[in-house]
Amino acid sequence: AATHTDVIIIGAGAAGLMCAAEAGAGGARVLVLDHANKVGKKILMSGGGRCNFTHLHSGPENFIGHNPHFCKSALSRYTPYDFLDLVERHGIAYEEKTPGQLFCQNSAKDIVQMLLAECRSGGAQIRLRTEIEAIDWQKPFHLKTSLGKLSCDTLVIATGGYSVPSMGASGFGYELARRLGINVHTTRPGLVPFTLPPKLLASLATLSGISLAASVRTADAFFQENILFTHRGLSGPGVLQASSYWHEDEAVAIDLWPQADLLTQLATQREQRPRMSLKNFLATLWPRRLAEHWCTHYVHDKPLNQLTVEDLKQLQNHCQPWTIKPAGTEGYRTAEVTVGGVDTDAFSSKTLACKQLPGLYFIGEVLDVTGHLGGHNFQWAWASAVAAGQAITA
Ligand code: FAD
Repeated sequence: AATHTDVIIIGAGAAGLMCAAEAGAGGARVLVLDHANKVGKKILMSGGGRCNFTHLHSGPENFIGHNPHFCKSALSRYTPYDFLDLVERHGIAYEEKTPGQLFCQNSAKDIVQMLLAECRSGGAQIRLRTEIEAIDWQKPFHLKTSLGKLSCDTLVIATGGYSVPSMGASGFGYELARRLGINVHTTRPGLVPFTLPPKLLASLATLSGISLAASVRTADAFFQENILFTHRGLSGPGVLQASSYWHEDEAVAIDLWPQADLLTQLATQREQRPRMSLKNFLATLWPRRLAEHWCTHYVHDKPLNQLTVEDLKQLQNHCQPWTIKPAGTEGYRTAEVTVGGVDTDAFSSKTLACKQLPGLYFIGEVLDVTGHLGGHNFQWAWASAVAAGQAITA
């Protein structure tokens, strides 16, 4: 006979652990299953090891999905300040880096330890290295697993997206949805660096490591944040944000001096210092290596008073914006998130319950809800997990 529990949660990541804690606190007997050898691997590697666990101003406008309204209910009922309360109750030191973005001061381990402590106090059990071999959807749900046969009244799918397969990511949640006849929106890597065509990449080789303020525009989005030249292509927050909206073959327009109109600024400078070289002028705006590169590859270095109308046009065309066509992205290997996913139309936005199969819930990144960079993805994991956890024990 199967071992019975009230609630089984598949996935001991951000959403799964949070849901286990909430449902456990509400009185349910909870079992969390994960095929990985450790809980919360993505939490541990997030934010450069210090976990950007929320964004104080997180709201529906920070999320991408076919139904932009779906995330509203859960996000409004469990806010960044609710999560911050939890962090403070556990005495975890944190800091606000970029405005609104909260990081652990010491280590992302603090967040995992906090979630495990919350799971323990609600009595939730966690089993790692467990494979789910089959699920029988007749109620109560029956699961064939490497631990043996298990059954439950409520099943929560919290298996996340495809990004970083080396950390245990799998398409499991998407496959389950498809098997149930639930639509899955096309997935693609998001918050991921762009790769460049080989010739362009080679020409930019000397710029690797340079970061500068810029704005990045795709057909559907605009972000004013830093970009970073790397030895593989382009990265930095502005590029990562734009990548979540980018589609293959699309051009990306990067304004390398978003602060002002370059030609107006140049005209002022030309009046004051007519013999200043263009390279030196650009070096007042950018790191010198970048100015030198632009004057070697894209525009002719001359004293400002000798620039022709054609030179000025060239300059503007290569800076405001500098338009490139990425070769692609680095893919799921380094993407922070998966854009697209399980169609939210099949779920209640209040409870995250599946409309066609009572007792089944999908939470976190597996759903077609993708946050911007800056703590929004964890905020969705927490908020969707709490909404489901409360509904399960209501
Ligand atoms: P996950 O946390 O991915 O958890 C899914 C769990 O399901 C995993 O434990 C996995 O092992 C398990 N699982 C998968 N398939 C199976 C299966 N077949 N059987 C059993 N178990 C399975 N977001 C932020 O907000 N701030 C950040 O600073 C940030 N930094 C990031 C840095 C990196 C490098 C990456 C990759 C992501 C980052 N993110 C960040 C995104 C964030 O980590 C995710 O959005 C979030 O973890 C999603 O939570 P989840 O619980 O839905 O999925």
